[in-house]
Formats: sequence, C-alpha cells, structure tokens
Amino acid sequence: MKFDELGLSPETLKAVKECGYESPTPIQAKAIPLIQMTRDVVGLAQTGTGKTASFTLPMIDALAGGRAKMRMPRSLILEPTRELAAQVADNFDTYGKYQKLSKALLVGGESMGEQVKLLEQGVDVLIATPGRLLDLFERGSILLNDIRILVIDEADRMLDMGFIPDIDKIVSFIPPTRQTLLFSATMPPEIKKLTEKYLSNPKEVSVAPAASPAETVEQFLVNLHPKDKNEVLDQLLKQEKVETAFIFLNRKKDVDLLAKWLKGKGYNAAPLHGDMAQVQRTKTLAEFKEGKITLLVCSDVAARGIDVNDISHVFNYDVPMTADDYVHRIGRTGRAGKTGRAWMLASDRDQKFMDAIEKLIKKKFEPVDIKSKKGGNKSGGSDSKSFKKPDHQKNERKDNDHKSKDHKANNNNNAPHKSQSQPQKKSPPKNKKYDNDDEGDDVVGFGDDIPSFLK
Ligand code: AMP
Repeated sequence: MKFDELGLSPETLKAVKECGYESPTPIQAKAIPLIQMTRDVVGLAQTGTGKTASFTLPMIDALAGGRAKMRMPRSLILEPTRELAAQVADNFDTYGKYQKLSKALLVGGESMGEQVKLLEQGVDVLIATPGRLLDLFERGSILLNDIRILVIDEADRMLDMGFIPDIDKIVSFIPPTRQTLLFSATMPPEIKKLTEKYLSNPKEVSVAPAASPAETVEQFLVNLHPKDKNEVLDQLLKQEKVETAFIFLNRKKDVDLLAKWLKGKGYNAAPLHGDMAQVQRTKTLAEFKEGKITLLVCSDVAARGIDVNDISHVFNYDVPMTADDYVHRIGRTGRAGKTGRAWMLASDRDQKFMDAIEKLIKKKFEPVDIKSKKGGNKSGGSDSKSFKKPDHQKNERKDNDHKSKDHKANNNNNAPHKSQSQPQKKSPPKNKKYDNDDEGDDVVGFGDDIPSFLK
C-alpha cells in the first residue's frame, strides 16, 4: 500500500513525504481508514510501530479547517508521561506543518501561566497528562465539551500508573458524541473493560500479538549475584558493540548512582528519571537523541515510548517488576526494521518476575555464561530462540562464586558500587502511582529485595 491510497489531504501527504516515509506501516494502513470513517478504534500496537502517526495523520485532516473556541479544545490526546506528550506534540508539528492547526501541551513541570494563555486563544489539539489536565479543568481554565476526538494513548501504562480514576473523571466531562481512539501495547482485563466503557462499537486493529516482543530483538540472560551487576554490565558494554543503549533500573535513586559509576568508568552515560527537573530531562533526552549521550540510565516511566530509532542495546540492570514492562523496555531497540539486542541481569531473587516474563513472551531464557565471551563474541553466545529455564537453585551459588573470582581476577579496579549491591528496605504502598512525573513519588520497584507480601 502507498500513502497516496489512504485518502489523506495533499498537505498531510506532502508533510509525510518530507519525512521520507515510503509506505504506511501496518498499524497506519489498518487504523487510518477506520479513523477517517469516524469509527472508534482500539489499536493494539507497541511504540515503534508507527502508531502515533496512525492517529495524528487522520486527526490533522479531520480538524483542518475548523476553528477552536476560547478554552474549548477540539481534540484531546491523553499521554501517561511528559516525554510522550512532548513527542506527540512534535508529531503534530511535523505532520501538520502545511495545515493551520493550533495545539497546546499540558504537562506538569512547565509553566501553567503559559499553558493557560494558549488555551485562552483556543486550541485544536490538546495533548495532556491526566494530572495537569484535571488540575486546569478544576480551576476552570478549560472546558471539555467541544472535544470531537479523544485519544487515550498507552492505556496499559495509564493503568500501571494508577491514572484510570483520573481518566474516568476526564471522560465524564467529554460529550459522548465524540470519536474515541484507544491505543495499548497489551490488553489486560482492566483495559478491555475500559474499551467497553468508553468506546462505542469499536473496531480493533492489531499489528503484533499483544505483548509479544518485537521479532527484531535478540534476548539474552545473565545469571549473577546482585553484587556483581556493575562489573557484569561493564563487561557487557565492552564486549557488545554498543552504539546507543537504554539501561533500565527499577529505582530512581539507583539510576543516579549507576549513571555516576558509569561516568566514573569513562562511559558517556547520563541518568533520566522522574525526579529530575524538567529542563534537565528535556536536555538529556535531546542529547541522547542527537547521539551526544550514548548510555541512557533510566527508570521505566521516564523512558516510556521515547522515540529514538537507532538504539542498539537495552540492558535490564534490574529485572522489571512486571512482564509488560519487560516488553516495553526491550521494545526500545529493534525499531523501524532494525535489529537490537536486549540483555537481562538476573539473580535467583528475581525468579518470580522471570517466570512471569517467560510466561508472557512464551520463551525460556538460557543463561549466557559471559565469562567465556571475553574478547567480544559477536553473537553473545546464546540462541535466543531456544531459551532454557535457568536452574538458579542448583547452579547459582557455585556459578556466582566462580564469577566473583573471575571478576576479581580480571577486573581489579572495577569493584561494584557498594550502594548498588545493598537494596533498600523500603516497600512501596500498594496501588500507589509510581515514578509519576506529576506526582513525584519515589519508589518505582524493589530492585533485588522483594518484600515478603509479594513472594
Ligand atoms: P511510533 O510507534 O509512533 O513511536 O513511531 C516510531 C517511529 O517510526 C517514529 O520515529 C516515526 O517517525 C517512524 N515512522 C512512523 N511512520 C512511519 C512510516 N510510515 N515509515 C517509516 N517510519 C515511520
């Protein structure tokens, strides 16, 4: 299929062609015609599939020519994080450059006065995180009764972050005659319920089986003792041909510590998490996109959906607490048809989470013995298609003793950072919003220390 066959306006087509896109991605080919017919749509697609353009392109055409009234936006896109909201806003600028559309970005961390000023002038497209939107709504700065198109993007992440009550509230202020589009990488029962509640006779489009990691990502597992994580990461960074990488951790504090440690070792690394000032986050992200920073050490939410295409590697320094997070993390690489490599550092304490991940991705990991890979084995030594369950109970002690000695022998100066190996004893409150940019909560995971109520 060609873009010309989609019935987009000449202005939008021109902007798309200038981006160098040759043909629509599968989600675009499927979703755009439905959106043009004003159908409600559920899009099951991960980031990296071109899903943002699948709703922004038809929205631009649907909204072109109309005029927004003061404080009454004509469309609303809800995003879970500031970064994603900013990225979607960039998409509107890029694809909508030949149409006259006004837009506003309502996210925490930016001046409210400026945002209110824009709203007062009238906006066609409002892109917002739920917290800031409700805040402004409750102050009377915004009215939602002129919304014609509502997009709930990254719905599964909204659920994880505890945003569903906020979304419920927001949707109750929007007239039911709207067109509603909901995008999600996975379809847990709660999201299914959401679609039944908010969408009218929706058409479902899906581009990959829910929660299946991109085919283009090779996945590897290293079994280790938690105290060896820094050294093993250092070794992997040296032996893999890392161009740019995300390194994921479960806790914001550890993000800072690891970034510092890596910088100390001479790596071009920087932290990114929700406690950093917005200007710093924006700067870090821009530098990462430009390639000035090669290793982005981050928490899940801060990195969610960040659109950088040339990521060669993802390192899971901590095993993610949910299997969905694993899928989202490794989806940072292997994008836009390129291949990528994802490494997981796990200890026997992570077994419960590893089991959940293996169940979701329907693959068994076979641990890679990286000791034998010194000198840069190109393949990383594992066939990712034939994963075998790690036998932590039997092998871990012996294996770790061996590994520790090996590291000491080979890497005398690379003593692991002490605080990385001493998990904090803080348990997160259940159902609490976490790493939420607008809330500033602290705990994003448990690292290696699983509280007993989860065992
Ligand atoms: P998304 O899934 O929306 O995060 O998009 C992932 C990346 O794909 C972005 O960098 C887009 O610019 C790019 N992209 C979107 N549509 C196309 C297309 N039809 N052809 C090539 N690249 C695209």
